[in-house]
Amino acid sequence: MLGRIILISILFYIIYRIVRFFQRLGETSPQKYQKRTQPGSKVMVKDEMCNTYIPEDEALKEVKDGRTYYFCSSACRQKFIQERKKK
Ligand SMILES: [Zn+2]
Repeated sequence: MLGRIILISILFYIIYRIVRFFQRLGETSPQKYQKRTQPGSKVMVKDEMCNTYIPEDEALKEVKDGRTYYFCSSACRQKFIQERKKK
């Protein structure tokens, strides 16, 4: 009788270890993914045409008179260039 209890305990322990192993496998991959996509150090720049803020690495750049202007899309960039031409 005692031998069977020990055997069942060992069996449950093994099942528990297997479950923990797969839980840990499921936990590690999304954590890595979150770290990669975390914004944190991203620099936000302003689009002068539509007054929205965009991450610097995603923004379109245009250098005019030594100043760098940022745009959310090529449409905003074109609008900026055309308005500059008028003046
Ligand atoms: Zn814009």
